[in-house]
This record gives sequence, structure tokens and C-alpha cells, in this order.
Amino acid sequence: MKPGPASPAIARIPIMPFGMVNAFALIGPEKVVLVDAGLPDTVPRFDEVLKRHGRALSDVSLIVVTHGHIDHAGGACQLREATGAPIVAHRAELPYLGGTQPPPFCPTGPFGRFFLRTGAPRAPWRHFEPDIQLDDEPLDLTDFGLDGHVEATPGHTPGSLSVRAPAGAALVGDMLASGVLLGGLFMTGRPKRPPFEERPDIVAREIERLASEGATDFYLGHGGPLPVKTALRHAKRLRELAS
Ligand SMILES: [Zn+2]
Ligand SMILES: [Zn+2]
Repeated sequence: MKPGPASPAIARIPIMPFGMVNAFALIGPEKVVLVDAGLPDTVPRFDEVLKRHGRALSDVSLIVVTHGHIDHAGGACQLREATGAPIVAHRAELPYLGGTQPPPFCPTGPFGRFFLRTGAPRAPWRHFEPDIQLDDEPLDLTDFGLDGHVEATPGHTPGSLSVRAPAGAALVGDMLASGVLLGGLFMTGRPKRPPFEERPDIVAREIERLASEGATDFYLGHGGPLPVKTALRHAKRLRELAS
């Protein structure tokens, strides 16, 4: 008899060192779901971490792209080729993922403005059409071999997604960051806005919603993880900013 899905283990994939850019692998009894695809040409980072957990790229059943920025979506085509797994993303993100409309990159401070001037956020990457396109209905991960679901958590971009694993883990992409500059490095217990953010008011609402629904730990694309009370403190600050 095949074992049923079980609470997955969360493995961080270091796309850049010191937690500056993270992707994640949710490791279930048989299958693996990847959360974010990292920068272009980072398939070996995924391979390495999976091997350390006794798994292979061929065990990947799904690639969740939280949003259409290069550090989360830039490696998705190569990962799809390496794993044979489908990519899921939100429909509102299609223009960014397909390269038909660049993200607006609304800087949240001096680092965001500087970073934009370096050209790195707009560096070329392989655009794509996701195999599975979500609207506001969550996607149950049971069909992909694990407990949990993918759901819309807009704000950072209109089609940002998060993955909710059982026991309170929320993998939220760039809903918030922690640390310094891009995120990570040091002071990683301190929440911060990512370098770019489209709608801080909606981000605050989504953090508060996840908290009210039992999220206890926020796993981040840059820095983290953060406990829920720190994430809520950040949401409060975003609300003050908006008022
Ligand atoms: Zn982003
Ligand atoms: Zn990012």
C-alpha cells in the first residue's frame, strides 16, 4: 500500500549565501515540492540539497513560483527541464512570467533604488508560461504527494503565492524579508520590507490573515525564518506607513 501524504520537512536551498536568496524544498514521504526556482543556472544548488536528503530531482512533483521576479522565477524553465515537474503560478503574474510586461519594481528605500540602478533585477532570464495557473482557489498539494496547499497572498506583486504546510509553516516568498540590504547576511531576526513592494497595505492584510489562520513560522525568500509575532510587528509598521 502506498503511504498517504504526511507533514513535509522543509529544506532551505541557498541560492545565494548567508540567506540572501532562498528557495525551499518540501520533502514528503515520496515526493518533493519546490517553492521558488531561484536565479538562472542554479539547478545544481537544488540537486545538492535534495541529494543530502536522499532525494533526486526526479522526485520533484511540482515547482511553485511565488512571483515573477528573477530571483524566484529565473531558474524555473531549467528546473522544469531537469525535473519534468509542472510549474504552478498565479494568473495575475502571467505578464511578468511571460515577459510581456516588466514588473514595476516599486523601491521601498535607498537600497531598492540603488539595486534597480545596477540593472540586476532586470537582467535577462527565460520567461515561460506556467503549466498550472491559479486564480483565488487554493491548490491542494495532496495530489503532489504532500500535506499542504498553495494560495494567493497578493501585495508584494499582484499574483504572489504562498505555500502553507501543516503545523503552522508558511512559505511566503517576498511578503516580507529580514536582515539587511537584499535580506539575510546579519540581523536576520529583524523584519524588513523587501527591496521592492507593490502594495504594502495588502501585504499587511495578508500577514494578519495568515496569522489569524494559525501560521506560526514565516519562511522567506530573503533572510528568515521569522516567528509570527515578528511578522505581525512588521504588518503593524506597514499599516502605520500607509496612514
Ligand atoms: Zn520579489
Ligand atoms: Zn526576491
